[in-house]
Amino acid sequence: MSDSPSLFTRIVAREIPADVLFENERIIAIRDINPQAPVHLLVIPKMEYRNVTELAAADPVLLAEVVSVAQSLASEHSTGDYRLVFNTGASTGQTVFHVHAHVLSGALEEGTLAH
Ligand code: 5GP
Repeated sequence: MSDSPSLFTRIVAREIPADVLFENERIIAIRDINPQAPVHLLVIPKMEYRNVTELAAADPVLLAEVVSVAQSLASEHSTGDYRLVFNTGASTGQTVFHVHAHVLSGALEEGTLAH
């Protein structure tokens, strides 16, 4: 954990706007502001673990919930097939040190996009 609230904690607090697609007590899911795929979502545990390794060690049930939310959102917003990416460490491209899953997927057929 860091001293100041992370970018994602500030989104949870609605201090920074985001397109929120899912939220419950423990998780929020938003659209990535700089999409790298037709559907690019972020599934974020509200608790500020630094990366997926820390999350898995501390709360494997929450990690499983992240995967479940990713699957549901990929089905709702895309074909149901998806890549799940956890950048872990700055040299892999991690820029926000508050664990988040990138859900990357193709779009639905034109005319069926769900939102
Ligand atoms: P990382 O590089 O840490 O794996 O992923 C951080 C992600 O957060 C990036 O894909 C980046 O585009 C996204 N991001 C950064 N700032 C914002 C923001 O203010 N809003 C949203 N929705 N996404 C953001």
